[in-house]
Amino acid sequence: MALIVQKYGGTSVANPERIRNVARRVARFRALGHQVVVVVSAMSGETNKLIALAKEIMPDPDPRELDVLVSTGEQVTIALLSLALMDLGVKAKSYTGAQVRILTDAAHTKARILQIDEDNIRRDLNAGNVVVVAGFQGVDEAGNITTLGRGGSDTTGVALAAALKADECQIYTDVDGVYTTDPRIVPEARRLKSITFEEMLEMASLGSKVLQIRSVEFAGKYKVKLRVLSSFEEEGEGTLITFEDENNMEQPVISGIAFNRDEAKVTVLGVPDRPGIAYQILGPIADANIDVDIIIQNVAADGTTDFTFTVHKNELQKALGILKGVQAHIGAREVVGADNIAKVSIVGVGMRSHVGIASLMFRTLAEEGINIQMISTSEIKISVAIEEKYMELAVRVLHKAFELEDA
Ligand code: ADP
Ligand code: ASP
Ligand code: MG
Repeated sequence: MALIVQKYGGTSVANPERIRNVARRVARFRALGHQVVVVVSAMSGETNKLIALAKEIMPDPDPRELDVLVSTGEQVTIALLSLALMDLGVKAKSYTGAQVRILTDAAHTKARILQIDEDNIRRDLNAGNVVVVAGFQGVDEAGNITTLGRGGSDTTGVALAAALKADECQIYTDVDGVYTTDPRIVPEARRLKSITFEEMLEMASLGSKVLQIRSVEFAGKYKVKLRVLSSFEEEGEGTLITFEDENNMEQPVISGIAFNRDEAKVTVLGVPDRPGIAYQILGPIADANIDVDIIIQNVAADGTTDFTFTVHKNELQKALGILKGVQAHIGAREVVGADNIAKVSIVGVGMRSHVGIASLMFRTLAEEGINIQMISTSEIKISVAIEEKYMELAVRVLHKAFELEDA
């Protein structure tokens, strides 16, 4: 007998028939004698609908009230799934995040899980119940409902698996595993039998939304056995997220390609080339809680230089406003922004031991006439910022150039 945490995403619980389908799968695991905790997302589209509703009332909604609102989506599905299980004769009990007591910090709309009380869940499991938990939500010390950021049900699933020391955490979604890139963009993309935590962490943080980044962090930290599978197929081993030493020696150089349309570019032109400039530019941006990704500063030839960085598209106007406020003080000539960029990244632990990866990437883009605006690298990834309209083309040609297609 194993203890398994299964998480089902929005498309997997999109309507009553799919919810019944999930219940049938859970029932099969129960019939094999396993204990099962199920985490569910809101029905697909619901979270977006709720956010849009809030914005109709208040364009920039108060974060506490937004969390009260959007957390209702998951409350609907836990009850429906519990009913579907009961209808199959399976004992089930639903819990909201607060009822479990998934304690988080107070950062509304992007809270972090601090602690999980597992006593209630354990008791119900031992009494023969399937425990159905609302994903994406928690409660802070003061009792306020919080949410974990978009895609946060993945993190609920993995955090519960860690707290319960589950044998496996299974993430059921609308694809049958983690692919070399988003199969919606590249139909020839190939499912990976396994991918290392390190690579998955990079893929998630560089824009592959198949797993929320924090869920991968949790799984790595607490050594949770994590697998991504399809909720629409009966069989299939999905993709196992592994530690590197479990992998064979035949690691391909590049495991996958990630992309992100959410970034925008800020350029401060003609800044004096002297100590303290980077701090004077990025200090006020950090003080405003704006995350910065790629940063580039040119070498000055004539005493002044240009300073460019990227932020989330939603925060471009705020960042520009802040910098225009300090522009005179810094002595910069101009501050400009562009939101028509996208970031494309290649990821692979094999990069550590191979040369020529960057040049193949740059040559491939050059052959398509795609201009690279910014470059950023780490040990296992290379990212480029390009014009957004070339993003899909770039992903496709890189996928081919690195021979990632289905054989
Ligand atoms: P869920 O609602 O189940 O959480 P998501 O929409 O959050 O599902 O994540 C699954 C989607 O992630 C897939 O439909 C796919 O389009 C997208 N995706 C992006 N990158 C990848 C990748 N490398 N492998 C698989 N799916 C990916
Ligand atoms: N329902 C939430 C969202 O749409 C959480 C999730 O699906 O993981 O972001
Ligand atoms: Mg998701």
